[in-house]
Amino acid sequence: VDATPANFIRNIIDEDNRTGKWNGRVETRFPPEPNGYLHIGHAKSICLNFGIAHDYGGVCHLRFDDTNPEKEAQEYVDSICDSVSWLGFDWGKHLYYSSDYFNQLYEFAEYLITQDKAYVESLSAEEIREYRGTLIHPGKNSPYRDRPAAESLDLFRRMKAGEFADGQYVLRAKIDMASPNINMRDPVIYRIRHVHHQRTGDQWCIYPMYDYTHCISDALERITHSLCTLEFEDHRPLYDWVLDQLAGKVPCHPQQIEFARLNLTYTVMSKRKLIELVEKKLVDGWDDPRLSTLAGVRRRGFTPRTIRLFAERIGISKADSWIDMSILEDCLREDLNEHAPRRVAVLKPLKLIIDNYPEDQQEDCFAPNHPQKPEWGKRTIPFSKVLYIERDDFMEVPAKGYFRLSPGAEVRLRYAFIVKCVQVDKNAQGDIEAIHCTYDPDTKSGTPGADSRKVKGNIHWLSVKHAQVAEVRLYDRLFTDPHPDSGDKDYKTALNPESKQIITAYVEQSLCDAQPEQSFQFERNGYFVADRLDMKPGKPVFNRAVTLRDSWGK
Ligand code: ATP
Ligand code: MG
Ligand code: MG
Repeated sequence: VDATPANFIRNIIDEDNRTGKWNGRVETRFPPEPNGYLHIGHAKSICLNFGIAHDYGGVCHLRFDDTNPEKEAQEYVDSICDSVSWLGFDWGKHLYYSSDYFNQLYEFAEYLITQDKAYVESLSAEEIREYRGTLIHPGKNSPYRDRPAAESLDLFRRMKAGEFADGQYVLRAKIDMASPNINMRDPVIYRIRHVHHQRTGDQWCIYPMYDYTHCISDALERITHSLCTLEFEDHRPLYDWVLDQLAGKVPCHPQQIEFARLNLTYTVMSKRKLIELVEKKLVDGWDDPRLSTLAGVRRRGFTPRTIRLFAERIGISKADSWIDMSILEDCLREDLNEHAPRRVAVLKPLKLIIDNYPEDQQEDCFAPNHPQKPEWGKRTIPFSKVLYIERDDFMEVPAKGYFRLSPGAEVRLRYAFIVKCVQVDKNAQGDIEAIHCTYDPDTKSGTPGADSRKVKGNIHWLSVKHAQVAEVRLYDRLFTDPHPDSGDKDYKTALNPESKQIITAYVEQSLCDAQPEQSFQFERNGYFVADRLDMKPGKPVFNRAVTLRDSWGK
């Protein structure tokens, strides 16, 4: 296991352990809202929280922050659990829901009212906004701010009892309308919503707000370090204010620490945009292999190892920045270069006929499963008179520096013989239909003297008689613009029209038995994965995870 690089959060924990602040306890949480599928950005947070818990011998909770029932669904809960496990993390028995705390959150709210720290507001949402002021203008007190606690308590109980319509009242924390931090200007902590909740049903018609719920949930679960993204920095005073009011009533006061969120080029990660892409059918569902969702990158052929390596490589910092997609793709190349067996596939076939090879003859060639891992052994690839090669490996009029096949030129057919192109067959339209070669029987790879004659080109091939048909999906980046959602342009105009191409290719026989999610390097063509849903025995389907080299430039 690689040593995890130090970061400022680990430094804080080390210091806490030194001073004994938490008696050596380290407890973190990953708190998704079940209102969409997880994406690569979430993976950064998952790797951080679970990674720290693991390395310090602590635990990491998976907590569903389910306080917005309109937008949440069990489908999202299930997919989130799936993705976290897929990444290789285990929350054990520590699976929680904010809705588990609705009773306690309600009791604490009543307590805040009795302490004159919260009040029921009668102003409309719009009036509340007006009264709140702006960055440069302080807010002003609501006329209801000094409503007697007994009256607020009565109204709050009636809010809970369902006597009022949505929006008629809210509960606000009583903090400071003149605070330079707008989050502290009497934030709303409860609102009325007559909606069904996927877990609590119709038991509640008032729901607590995120800022109020989150810190209390952390405290009730005895979280030590509550790690969140930078946009919550301004909310930290509120996090601390709520827990200070409840000192002695909750088990502890966790420390909120902010880190920079992941911004990745050539993709979008906001849930609103991901939902729009899915609902408008601009992609094939949440697990479309072009999406940055974890379900998507999984289907694309990314491995959990790749994502963890990526999270480690980009590190944790306190400053927002952009990470180039090529860094993620390079992690995948690195992982699959090491772990994926080699196979041959011909994606755009051209027939090659060996004129001096006997019609009814065939022989075995031997190809290593991994060039750096002889222990992985070799496999047999049958050779015969009629082969497929890649169309791009032949040029009738070769460009300068082109060392593959052209009339009169010689190449090595990898693991087999040197051949020379002697004739080009064209149809009536002038399209090339097949090429003819002669082969040199003394040059078979692996036989003595095979290498005595050097040729520059080295191309892959499959025997027509033995090749199997496969559906191959060539995926590329979903957007052509590195920052599809920056500025005021519509990110949908930056969609890459060539991000998905489905072709029929030829593959080695052995690939027909690939297991769903098994990855391979198709020699010279890139890394591919057997589609986890559509791969069926005898009906192979492969997705291109990534090309061998970056063709996008930096
Ligand atoms: P979105 O903005 O896509 O709706 P969110 O932050 O609202 O995402 P949550 O479900 O609340 O989604 O996120 C759960 C956790 O994942 C939070 O702690 C959040 O900070 C973290 N997270 C979300 N996006 C990123 C990101 N791009 N980089 C790092 N962490 C992220
Ligand atoms: Mg959120
Ligand atoms: Mg959000």
